[in-house]
Amino acid sequence: MAEWSNWSGRLHAKPARVASLSSEAEVVDAVRSAANSGLRMRVVGAAHSHAPLVPTEGVVFDLAGLSGLVSVDPAAGTARVHAGTRIADLGVPLRAEGVALLNQGDIDRQAIAGAVATGTHGTGEKLRNLSAGVMGARLILADGSRVDCSAENEPELFQAARLNLGALGVITELTLAVRPAYRLQEKIWLEDVDTVLDRLDELAAATRHFEFFWMPGRPRTACKSLAETDADPVYPLAEEGERRAWSDEVLANERNDKHSEMEYTVPREDGPACFRALREMLARDFPDLAWPVEYRTLAEDDVWLSTAYQRPGATLSVHQGVDQPDEPLFRACEALFAQFAGRPHWGKVHYRTGPELAALHPKWDDWWQVRDAWDPAGRFLNAHLEALRPANH
Ligand SMILES: Cc1cc2nc3c(=O)[nH]c(=O)nc-3n(C[C@H](O)[C@H](O)[C@H](O)COP(=O)(O)OP(=O)(O)OC[C@H]3O[C@@H](n4cnc5c(N)ncnc54)[C@H](O)[C@@H]3O)c2cc1C
Repeated sequence: MAEWSNWSGRLHAKPARVASLSSEAEVVDAVRSAANSGLRMRVVGAAHSHAPLVPTEGVVFDLAGLSGLVSVDPAAGTARVHAGTRIADLGVPLRAEGVALLNQGDIDRQAIAGAVATGTHGTGEKLRNLSAGVMGARLILADGSRVDCSAENEPELFQAARLNLGALGVITELTLAVRPAYRLQEKIWLEDVDTVLDRLDELAAATRHFEFFWMPGRPRTACKSLAETDADPVYPLAEEGERRAWSDEVLANERNDKHSEMEYTVPREDGPACFRALREMLARDFPDLAWPVEYRTLAEDDVWLSTAYQRPGATLSVHQGVDQPDEPLFRACEALFAQFAGRPHWGKVHYRTGPELAALHPKWDDWWQVRDAWDPAGRFLNAHLEALRPANH
């Protein structure tokens, strides 16, 4: 038996074993061997999820060794990457080919397949999450067979695989949308939070990326914008807030204080009202909270389980230190987000049931039908996902 824990140290598991795999052939062998032993399988990326997606009593596959850029097709605007590649390891090789990812989240420590699996996103009113940038995926299924899916080939599997929760098979390679490499100028400033809420549309439209971090109880908030620029990068790199460099050098930040997090995406137009309601609730019920609320925008997409499926979103995240009790806080926040038809981030804390998620995600049943068709024995499920599975499946 092995020991496993996630980045924050909040989640623990005792899988039968953790297998480090560094080639597709090794993945095929490991999947066949686990299936022959009757063991369930989960893949781990960089273990940065707060939701219990990885814990299993079966086998955990670690694909950190299956890393690197495979190829770039500048005409198609796509790049093929090995699934275990850390996002941090993509910037330089992509730039060497003259391209870059369309967007990134707050950090770049995740494995690309791990980030895609949960709909990881950055900010930008016209920018979609990483799953929406998936143009193709290669999977090793529960019987060890290999399938390449895209909008043209096995389109339903492709739709489910773009945001897959690790539940369809082992992804060994992804084809991602890229764009010509670009530079960003970063700016951080303090502004009265109500003024920011009142002029949010204007601020979000003014630059490619805009977000704000608000400390509970404070009248002002830290605003952050990133604007595209042709100006030369400034090296050595400045502190967060003053950087001007290539997109991958500016988009990623250090977030090393261990915390757990809940994040919901609400309809874009409800974002300010939701934030104000959250501010009131936190002041009343959690006056000692010392972690920020992060507010971002997310463009609408067509990814089946995306939190921005067919609706532009505002995302609100609430954090708590790992040494603090977080459940009362997160449950209170979740009740509030639910009033705004919020959809929970798949990689962060939530307590929603399958029927509740079905009501929030129009393609919930389709996703499960495809999942179950490609993995009928449920080899790629764990207890967390099993609890969400529709009863009629
Ligand atoms: C400090 C911090 C900052 C964060 N910032 C952001 C942010 O800005 N925006 C945002 O949206 N989220 C953010 N997150 C959440 C994070 O991006 C997601 O939880 C993401 O899924 C973590 O990626 P990972 O590589 O660690 O995957 P893991 O947490 O290890 O796994 C996530 C899922 O991916 C699956 N998986 C991984 N690799 C494969 C594979 N090869 N084949 C099949 N399935 C696979 C796993 O089975 C699991 O279901 C942050 C988290 C932390 C801790």
